Amino acid sequence: MATNIILLGPPGAGKGTQARRLIEERGLVQLSTGDMLREARSSGTEMGQRVAKVMDRGELVTDEIVIGLIKEKLEQGGKGFIFDGFPRTLAQADALEDLMKEEGQEIGAVIEMRVDDAALVSRISGRFTCGNCGEVYHDVTKPTKVEGSCDVCGSTDLRRRADDNEESLKTRLMEYYKKTSPLIGYYYAKGNLHPVDGLAEIDAVAGAVAAVLDEGKA
Ligand code: AMP
Repeated sequence: MATNIILLGPPGAGKGTQARRLIEERGLVQLSTGDMLREARSSGTEMGQRVAKVMDRGELVTDEIVIGLIKEKLEQGGKGFIFDGFPRTLAQADALEDLMKEEGQEIGAVIEMRVDDAALVSRISGRFTCGNCGEVYHDVTKPTKVEGSCDVCGSTDLRRRADDNEESLKTRLMEYYKKTSPLIGYYYAKGNLHPVDGLAEIDAVAGAVAAVLDEGKA
């Protein structure tokens, strides 16, 4: 059975960063609904235009849309998925369970990345990414070695997200606590929740995630 895992945590918890490590180190496939929605926006699809304002405000887009995106990806086949930013509501979690069953797969581990709110504000407000390879940086904690160019691929296309500002972060956090945090109890009750300290150094977090996966729990 392939390893399928969920990275669960508030915006800025480091889900994307850890997902990139898991892709590199374990060949897993990242399914980030945030990335899929941003792609839909930039390619100007009708759906992308519809969700743009919702995303910029920091609100969740409808379950129907994100479940549809995930369903499409799962139907394309593959193995070893990292669900990053999905599910974000109980309805999405139920839908994911049904979709996995249909594909004869299951979720091995749900990694809960724990961080405190004060850290999230500074993490989010300093965040930027490489538009070419997706490497994630931070003004203070992880600047590029050469200003204005990506350490990994050399691209100068460094971007800040439209929703990475204090105003929409407030809404994103509220959405997280109201709609997503109940998933912690949901997966705890299912027996596959594994909390890790998301405030530790990136390598230490990666080590904690690896320990969960290598314990045969995933
Ligand atoms: P992210 O990149 O995961 O921080 O997502 C960016 C934005 O995309 C969120 O603030 C939401 O507006 C939207 N989004 C991403 N994933 C979901 C989801 N699973 N459910 C609803 N909205 C989502």
